[in-house]
Amino acid sequence: MTTASNTPGKKGYPKFVHTNRSVEYKTSGWKIDADGRHILFTDGCGIGRVRLVGTRAIETFPLKQIKRVRLIKRADGFYVQFCVRAERVVEHIPTGDIVGIDVGLNAYTTDSDGKTVDNPRYLRKAEKRLKHLHRRLSRTKKQSRNRMKARKRFAKAHLKVQRQREDFARKQANALVTSHDLIAFEHLKITNMVKNRHLAKSINDAAWGGFLAWIGYYGAMHAIPIIKVAPHFTSQKCSRCGTMVKKSLSVRTHICSCGLIMDRDENAARNILQKALENGTAGQAGTTTP
Ligand SMILES: [Zn+2]
Repeated sequence: MTTASNTPGKKGYPKFVHTNRSVEYKTSGWKIDADGRHILFTDGCGIGRVRLVGTRAIETFPLKQIKRVRLIKRADGFYVQFCVRAERVVEHIPTGDIVGIDVGLNAYTTDSDGKTVDNPRYLRKAEKRLKHLHRRLSRTKKQSRNRMKARKRFAKAHLKVQRQREDFARKQANALVTSHDLIAFEHLKITNMVKNRHLAKSINDAAWGGFLAWIGYYGAMHAIPIIKVAPHFTSQKCSRCGTMVKKSLSVRTHICSCGLIMDRDENAARNILQKALENGTAGQAGTTTP
């Protein structure tokens, strides 16, 4: 929800956590009007009463369920985020399909049935525009009005890409959970991978972390097992005979002496699924099958 008026004051912040770009309240220090269109911050830090703009009807939630209120500054305005405790359970309609997925650079995901979802290269596409906006920003005079405007434009373009990315991840995760009864994926150390400079851009671009978190979220809602497996040898091992076939990142096809010739990522996805089934539901984040 965007707030249209008032900006937070810079005086003392007594009762809440204050980070760089957000202010967080727990269950006190704020009050919502009965109409749900205004929120009053009552702790005397100078924010006061703020009008809420947006489509969600926060007043329909019992007050007790609102555990946290966060005031966030974004490039295009201030947002009030309400953390609401709610049990959302969806009846999962069994599909009889189980799947292992491999996240990669060539495809967003490749699954153990060989299906791929293309990588949305939003950032690459938007990069040209971002670069242009950045050049314009750096040509403006310091502390000028034009600089302020240029900075805002740049930040907004960035924000747009971020939102597209998040939206894509959420939709993909939901579709995947809806159409399967079990999902296995590799537990990736994303922070380590991002340290590799050449991979970093694409990894951030695909935003796997968010994607995998959404799978966990929807998996819990549908009460299906989501199993993370250790990422060892999943791309080297032959998914048919178990032989180790060493290959560098640039080798895209798995070719084994047993005769199996398969896309590298599909082979990995099959290994991921096999691993998950061998470990049973002892894997992390798993819930039992309904
Ligand atoms: Zn083999």
